[in-house]
Amino acid sequence: MGIREGCRRVLGEEGYDIDLAEDGTVGLRRVQEKAYDLILVDLMMPGIGGLDLIKKIHEIDPEIILVVITGYATIETAVEATKRGAYDYLPKPFTPEALAVLVKRGIEKRELRLEAQRLHDEREQRLLELAGEKSRLRSIIGCMADGVLVTNLQRQLVLWNAAAVKMLRLSDTDEPGRLMDHCLKNRALIESLDRILGSKDESFSMIGQEIRTDDPKSVLMAQMAPVRDEHGRLLGAVTVIRDITNLKEIETIKSQFVSMVAHELRSPLAAIEGWLGVVLSGEAAGDEEQKRKWLLRAKERANSLLALVQDLLEINKIEAGKVAQKMESVQLTDMIGKIVEFFKPEAERQHVLLEMKPSVALPAIQADIQDMEKLFTNLVSNAIKYNVENGSVTIETSLDAHFVGIHIRDTGVGIAPADLPRIFDDFFRAETKRTKRISGTGLGLTIAKKIVDSHFGHIEVESQPDRGSTFSVYLPRKK
Ligand code: ADP
Repeated sequence: MGIREGCRRVLGEEGYDIDLAEDGTVGLRRVQEKAYDLILVDLMMPGIGGLDLIKKIHEIDPEIILVVITGYATIETAVEATKRGAYDYLPKPFTPEALAVLVKRGIEKRELRLEAQRLHDEREQRLLELAGEKSRLRSIIGCMADGVLVTNLQRQLVLWNAAAVKMLRLSDTDEPGRLMDHCLKNRALIESLDRILGSKDESFSMIGQEIRTDDPKSVLMAQMAPVRDEHGRLLGAVTVIRDITNLKEIETIKSQFVSMVAHELRSPLAAIEGWLGVVLSGEAAGDEEQKRKWLLRAKERANSLLALVQDLLEINKIEAGKVAQKMESVQLTDMIGKIVEFFKPEAERQHVLLEMKPSVALPAIQADIQDMEKLFTNLVSNAIKYNVENGSVTIETSLDAHFVGIHIRDTGVGIAPADLPRIFDDFFRAETKRTKRISGTGLGLTIAKKIVDSHFGHIEVESQPDRGSTFSVYLPRKK
């Protein structure tokens, strides 16, 4: 009793907030109800024993500082108590200063422990967040269609995704930390990564490089960039790989087309230049008839040049305007009937019998009128152009559950089996004795096929040299 009150007085003067308990059971209840920093425990207490009490208090809060107050008779027990987690012991009798010093030390110890615990908790929390972020990052990278590959300064692979494994055919990537030389087969890529990893230049930002793999058809684009921390220190390199095979193909087709166009434009232009040259040379001075002939030839070539440019524009329009097609209800039989009427004089001039024989009545279809006119004009005009004296052109129709069919049958020069597969290619013209003098651009069938394709139909040709050809167009019926 005297000691309890004495302690309260001494410690109260030090500014501590103090509660008293007359025995262990009361003390334990207090600890359950309220948080304490430090507890002074007398070993010689009624009821619950000191050692037991220490154990029970620590079960409630392991960080509470316990100071054991002990007489000489129980000093061994006090030593035992410190072994079991009490902070220190204070033998009786003690001076107020000794008590104050020990409590102050104990409280400081408690604060340190709490701070350490707080730091520990914070670190754990951060580690948890970091791990969460890492796995989020992995799943995002894993979902990307582009390949991603990260290498550190030790030239080890530290992060990559499935797309990178597939595109670069990475091997042995079962665990991180493998050297890049081991997993990467592509020498050019390794060399570029080494350039980045060995670079002292802080402004170095990126290497873009086309790379080839074992697959001769596939072309990849790798973009490699240094990875730096917030102070600009180099940590490694990140590589993003994109499959550009399709883009490359389009590029090749485009450049082939441009070179074909240039080639096709050059010969009529050169001819025009030639004819104008002879007129201007004065070679036919005074001979107006001769001059007129040469100028006429120049005009003919200029006409074919114009036709070529028109066809090219047409192709461009179809390519660019697939979405801008104006789909409306079209009665093909009526439309082709009018085209036939239009070509009748031309057919007569060539002594060709042009006839429309619609074997079945066609239902109206959904189509772009201008496209349809262009399509059948090209086919009927070819059937007359590549015909023979006293030949014929007959237009028939057919119908099935899904398609309407239009068949343009001619008894003309026909097409050699070897030429048939190329008949729809850009600028293709069969060179035979009989077709040599017939002018054309070689783009009419290209346009026809593009129109049919853009209407989700198909076009077929059957032909025998010197017997004739049949071009069949199938277009989808209205749903
Ligand atoms: P163009 O008639 O301007 O040469 P096309 O693309 O319309 O171009 O036709 C390509 C080639 O196909 C023609 O040069 C010709 O050799 C052949 N061809 C097209 N239609 C017929 C046909 N009805 N009969 C025989 N050959 C044809």
